[in-house]
Amino acid sequence: MARPLTDQEKRRQISLRGIPDLENVHELIKGFNRHLHFTLVKDRNIATPRDYYSALAHTVRDHLVGRWIRTQQFYYESDPKRVYYLSLEFYMGRTLQNTMVNLGVQNTCDEAMYQLGLDIEELEEIEEDAGLGNGGLGRLAACFLDSMATLGLAAYGYGIRYEYGIFNQKIRDGCQVEEADDWLRYGNPWEKSRPEFMLPVHFYGRVQETKEGSKWVDTQVVLAMPYDTPIPGYQNNTVNTMRLWSARAPNDFNLKDFNVGDYIQAVLDRNLAENISRVLYPNDNFFEGKELRLKQEYFVVAATLQDIIRRFKTSKSGSPSNKKHLCLLQVAVQLNDTHPAMAIPELMRIFVDIEKLDWDVAWDLTRRTFAYTNHTVLPEALERWPIKLMETLLPRHLQIIYQINQKHLDNIAALFPDDMDKLRAMSLIEEDGEKRVNMAHLCIVGSHAVNGVAEIHSNIIKTQVFRNFSDLEPGKFQNKTNGITPRRWLLVCNTGLVDVIAEHHESQTGSYEMTCFYLKYIENKLKFAQYLEKEYNVKINPGSIFDVHVKRIHEYKRQVLNCLHIIHLYNQIRMKPNAPFTPRTVIIGGKAAPGYHMAKMIIKLITSVGDVINNDPVVGDKLKVIFLENYRVSLAEKVIPATDLSEQISTAGTEASGTGNMKFMLNGALTIGTLDGANVEMAEEAGKENMFIFGMTVDEVQEMDKEGYDAMSYYEKLPELKQVMDQITSGFFSLKQPHLFKDITDMLFKYDRFKVFADFEAYVKCQERVSKLFQDPIEWSKMVLRNIAATGKFSSDRTITEYARDIWGVEPSNIKIPPPSEPLRYFDKLNGLSSF
Ligand SMILES: *Cc1c(COP(=O)(O)O)cnc(C)c1O
Repeated sequence: MARPLTDQEKRRQISLRGIPDLENVHELIKGFNRHLHFTLVKDRNIATPRDYYSALAHTVRDHLVGRWIRTQQFYYESDPKRVYYLSLEFYMGRTLQNTMVNLGVQNTCDEAMYQLGLDIEELEEIEEDAGLGNGGLGRLAACFLDSMATLGLAAYGYGIRYEYGIFNQKIRDGCQVEEADDWLRYGNPWEKSRPEFMLPVHFYGRVQETKEGSKWVDTQVVLAMPYDTPIPGYQNNTVNTMRLWSARAPNDFNLKDFNVGDYIQAVLDRNLAENISRVLYPNDNFFEGKELRLKQEYFVVAATLQDIIRRFKTSKSGSPSNKKHLCLLQVAVQLNDTHPAMAIPELMRIFVDIEKLDWDVAWDLTRRTFAYTNHTVLPEALERWPIKLMETLLPRHLQIIYQINQKHLDNIAALFPDDMDKLRAMSLIEEDGEKRVNMAHLCIVGSHAVNGVAEIHSNIIKTQVFRNFSDLEPGKFQNKTNGITPRRWLLVCNTGLVDVIAEHHESQTGSYEMTCFYLKYIENKLKFAQYLEKEYNVKINPGSIFDVHVKRIHEYKRQVLNCLHIIHLYNQIRMKPNAPFTPRTVIIGGKAAPGYHMAKMIIKLITSVGDVINNDPVVGDKLKVIFLENYRVSLAEKVIPATDLSEQISTAGTEASGTGNMKFMLNGALTIGTLDGANVEMAEEAGKENMFIFGMTVDEVQEMDKEGYDAMSYYEKLPELKQVMDQITSGFFSLKQPHLFKDITDMLFKYDRFKVFADFEAYVKCQERVSKLFQDPIEWSKMVLRNIAATGKFSSDRTITEYARDIWGVEPSNIKIPPPSEPLRYFDKLNGLSSF
């Protein structure tokens, strides 16, 4: 009998990716050796695995360069409307494998590395994640870049090149410990600095009124250095640009004024300016009004708008010979949440103070340019910057915001005379307590389109959170249900499933196909189990339900509800050790914001419960609880394809969309979830009967808010819940510190905004249905297939097509740029100009 194939051999066999051309393999090996020699200055005697990774990355990058330059030349020549996606976060993860897949050179690379005796999967593991994001919002931006390139849009991502991305999470004694993410330590082969496009950004200073208008003077200058990363579309020869700014002190920093004479101190103080791009703020769905964060937000906005205008002015439609100059701003700017909201007053400042446009003309242009995506309705997440801070840091912008507000309130007063409550509710300036700028209101007023990220969320912002604004301009509010890129989240991360789909896409869902599916899952599960054993020395039962709950740790995401269910299962096992039980491995992972005490306690609760359950001989391998350390994009790519059951259990009305839910669905997990965010649309697409839906609806949650939520009544009514809570309260899971979880239990009993107890019973019952169905692999697999077949809507290609049509006024391009091996038919007269 033949021995089983290794992973690497299997990868080489995958027919879908074509047979590698031997000549290309030879060329690739040549390129690889050249980079090992000339770029890394190594030979194969002393090269480390990281050197091999770098040599491969540089070789693959070489394949991008020609396409990248030509795409930008093509944009210059055809001069389409440009789309700018502004975001404080781009959660890109790794780049190598995604680039190989999008360029269609994966097979060639696999074969080349095989011939060199190198394990390509091992090399891929060496790459650091680009962790420039917290969670869903940042990952959405990354998926959108992939889709915009795939659809051939002339699009750019603009953000900050944080020197330290999202922290690395270590678990020590069951608690989260943060470590700095020094992701650039070994260099980054995917970026190219562009010092020639460095731009000044101003802070502080004062406003001088002159005959020619307002002037912002006596400012401190920080320089913004751009770093470009190529964004390849899927096998269409398009390569777009993500441009990230890094803060640099000017060379005369602190030498001119107050540090005169102290040269050494002045050089040391350059750090102060460069701190702006030092580190990503690790909050997800939470606003922390720190000055350095406001500096970051303005820094990216100021540098980006200068760059946009520079590119526009050097474009054909913006050239001085064209009289329409500026009045035909061929630009759409999408604001990813309110984080880049200062772009609105900044563009007004440029138009009014520098370009000397009339205010009303400037305002009209500004509103046509911007569109705003809202990502949350949680009040603690809404940005409200103190006036005092803004007055010091950006005095001219505050003036402009006041002026925008004046005209805005005048409009409302004209429509609703004497309605002071309405004026107060809709003002950009909040006057109760510390005076603040409401950034969401600024974005709504300064944009021509505002969108939520799932139907249910868009309805909530329209009819509740921003009701006054949508009454005023109903056409402005839209829905754009989020999506994920099927390249990274299927082609790259789940080759096994891609294979089965490719082989069986035309056949019926008979039991033979079901068996094939089932076997693929077992394979993914085995691979993940091996990974856990190798990396963390934990053994899990691959025949158990892999019940996975991975996302940022947050009260509204209700990891605690999951935890209560785990304890309940444990109690059932202990009560009847010999009763039949569907084995489960519950895997929970996610980072807590370092300053979020409750979230950190939730991690400690999960690990403590795990310590008891995993070491109880009565339990055996019926139930295991794993806290998955350092959840991030590259780990999501491993755990999601191995998942049977996806946990999406937020309180209805709190999760704007979710995108993790879609990744699991696409990879063949079944969902247990509430009717929240995009879960609602997933159930519409796949059929409610193919998901495990439980718990209160948004209406029922709001009804309960009116009547008052009484946690104690559930505790008294539900003996199973009572037992679970009594165990936590009595210190059963924290023998050395019986009161360790008092903050959690107090929250649950006294001020739980997310009503965990109210959904406990329904959740437990629903989980019982899950356990029962898992006993029937054929029925389970059928349900999986009906889910996978219904995932089409959740491709970010669909999402971006809608943004393009309904908000940006651009169309996906069906012109395919020829590959570098073919001549550029588009250029009659190649003038060498490009629009970088
Ligand atoms: C997709 C993704 C998220 C978002 O998950 P949700 O369940 O929608 O909150 C967060 N983190 C990572 C690493 C992701 O890949």
